[in-house]
Amino acid sequence: MAKVVGLLKHTAAAKKFYWSSAWKKCRASYIQSVFGLCERCSKPGGIVHHKEYIDHTNVDDPSITLNHENLELLCQTCHNQEHFEKGGVTRRDVMFDDDGNLIQRSEGDER
Ligand SMILES: [Zn+2]
Ligand SMILES: [Zn+2]
Repeated sequence: MAKVVGLLKHTAAAKKFYWSSAWKKCRASYIQSVFGLCERCSKPGGIVHHKEYIDHTNVDDPSITLNHENLELLCQTCHNQEHFEKGGVTRRDVMFDDDGNLIQRSEGDER
């Protein structure tokens, strides 16, 4: 598991934020504004991604975290692509859940 520590650290920093009511409101209104569809493939999307990734340096900055300009609604597939391909992480056995937590991908979920 040593290889994913960086990502887990990132989500730990963001975890408090993802549970905040300000984010939940922002997320809900953003999803409505794009009709709940993934902005890359137009499938129903469920993950509001931050174009500028959230980490411990900007998690308290609402102009990053709560700014619709910095948000993008993605489906699970596109969200995984964004993080794993851009970030150069090639692991396929982990994925992000709705709250941005890195979780173990269940077997047979590969598409
Ligand atoms: Zn998509
Ligand atoms: Zn993301």
